[in-house]
Amino acid sequence: MSRTPIVAGNWKMHHGVAATTSFCEAILDEALPGGVQAVICPPYTSIPAAAMLLAGSSIGLGAQNVHWEEQGAFTGEIAPAMLVELGVEWAIVGHSERRAMFGETDETAARRAAAAQAAGLTVIFCVGETLGKREAGETFAVLERQSSVLGPLDPGRLVLAYEPVWAIGTGRTATPEQAQEAHAFLRERLRGAFGDAAEGVRILYGGSVKPANAAELFAAPDVDGGLVGGASLDAASFSAIIRAAASAPPKE
Ligand code: PEP
Repeated sequence: MSRTPIVAGNWKMHHGVAATTSFCEAILDEALPGGVQAVICPPYTSIPAAAMLLAGSSIGLGAQNVHWEEQGAFTGEIAPAMLVELGVEWAIVGHSERRAMFGETDETAARRAAAAQAAGLTVIFCVGETLGKREAGETFAVLERQSSVLGPLDPGRLVLAYEPVWAIGTGRTATPEQAQEAHAFLRERLRGAFGDAAEGVRILYGGSVKPANAAELFAAPDVDGGLVGGASLDAASFSAIIRAAASAPPKE
């Protein structure tokens, strides 16, 4: 059974309600191909507008983070069930910006992921090395450490995103060979954790994916789509990346 590609847009702290409305109207006008799961992850405050406008469409809705507790004194955090109540089905966890700027660790990311899955969300779990670690030859050691917490998760509700930190928002993209090498390593790690179920886990590449480079990245055998930041903010460029994923060879 082949893995359906995913193209997920991480909007970060962009697009309030007005801009979200314009984006949704524009993307609904695009002739999107079948065979690709498209997901947008707007800021929390824009989720209700997106949910209303995208209801009944094929575009899924995700959040950019989620807390592990169901409720309580956790100022500024959002519980999994609060997202489910809004029609959210996906949650990004462990993004490198959360790790670098907001104290996210492998352990807290794992707790978020487990709670999100327990509430019925599918987790997009981010891993990736910094430039310093790559240049020190420690890419695989970092990926091994970051992926070591995945074991208790449900592979059926897990998507992995390989996002080399040096490629995020920099315009510098991993080559398809670099992406495939990291994805193959991660697939092997998933096999160790989940056995045969690892073959069904989608591994997305993230880091300056654009319409111009998406097709060559998505052609790699273990690259099952993309997690897209900047280029997901515009409906035309996001649609072009979705079309690139639809044209990629099937992933077994
Ligand atoms: C991201 O933040 O997940 C990302 C991949 O950003 P960009 O596409 O802008 O590099």
